[in-house]
Amino acid sequence: MSERPRILDTFLTLVTTDSQTRKEGRMADLLQERLEAMGFTVQRDDAGERIGGETGNLIAKLKGNSEGPPLCLCAHMDRVSPGTGIKPQIRDGVITSDGTTILGADDAAGLAAILEGVQRAIEQGVKRPDIEVVFTIAEEGGLNGSKNMDFSLIEAREAFIIDSSTPVGTIINKAPAQTKVTYRVIGKAAHGGVEPEKGISALVVAAHALTRMKLGRIDEETTANLGLAQGGSATNIVMETFEMRGDVRSLVTEKMEAQVQHMTEVFERTAAEFGARVEADIQFAYGPVNLKPDDPVVQRAAAAIRRAGLEPELRATGGGSDANIFNSRGITACNLGTGYRGAHSLQESIEIAALERIGDVVFALIVESASA
Ligand SMILES: [Zn+2]
Repeated sequence: MSERPRILDTFLTLVTTDSQTRKEGRMADLLQERLEAMGFTVQRDDAGERIGGETGNLIAKLKGNSEGPPLCLCAHMDRVSPGTGIKPQIRDGVITSDGTTILGADDAAGLAAILEGVQRAIEQGVKRPDIEVVFTIAEEGGLNGSKNMDFSLIEAREAFIIDSSTPVGTIINKAPAQTKVTYRVIGKAAHGGVEPEKGISALVVAAHALTRMKLGRIDEETTANLGLAQGGSATNIVMETFEMRGDVRSLVTEKMEAQVQHMTEVFERTAAEFGARVEADIQFAYGPVNLKPDDPVVQRAAAAIRRAGLEPELRATGGGSDANIFNSRGITACNLGTGYRGAHSLQESIEIAALERIGDVVFALIVESASA
């Protein structure tokens, strides 16, 4: 048997440490200890207090030994359910859970890769800039850790998020902004058998509005979906309220806003026509990642991936990550592929070889950033 790679041991330690969203305390303690052992100064912000979690985000700094702007590396500490008591299994070079939980490679792979890459840079004595490691809480379920992060603690203007469920070598340079929308049409209840003419069906109003509305794929960069609907109280009562919830996404914030405005206007105009009204609840969730291929951050990631012996591939995704929040807070960030598969499912897996490669990529990012 060949020697067991260190990153595998790190990974197994991390996935067997429970860390659910808002319950990242044990994980944060473990990571802080590892970072301090490497020489980092570790701070925790107050995001945990703000969202009712056990700990804040970990923001750790290590002084460099060369010129160059500080490099920020980020992964998230929490994981989805069922994600406690994970018992990792290894077969034919692939790590899975025992089938009763997720594996938690999302995002233990990112955490392990950052620890490994930095450790190797220190051991090999390579030139490195100041390194800022950010381990976030509550990424799952709405990016609440990074949304509430104290960004004044971060000096870097460029960051690499290690948290994409794409093959190692992938650079996510485009991810849409998102707005959550709720529309509640309010008509008038009446007995459906006795005096239906006195009622105003919220369902019928909504149906008319929906036929007049652009939904689904709006353009190459923009989508809109109403995925949940609820209404009515009894079969013999004209439906008084009908509520629809969904989201609007776009790579361009202005297009997202225009689509939301379109939907709100159609609901309001149609409701007025029928003597009904509509309540709209519009919640901006986060801004986009929209980096050109020649953006220096994308170029840096591509150079590191090549240095690690892989071919970089740019990709767009429809989902959000901490990269969305970093970009909206003025730090240019892209998300990198980790090689984990089936995230958020009991079938989640990662190859040991992928773990080793993502560790190589992080190490190469440090080398590339020093020579920038
Ligand atoms: Zn993740």
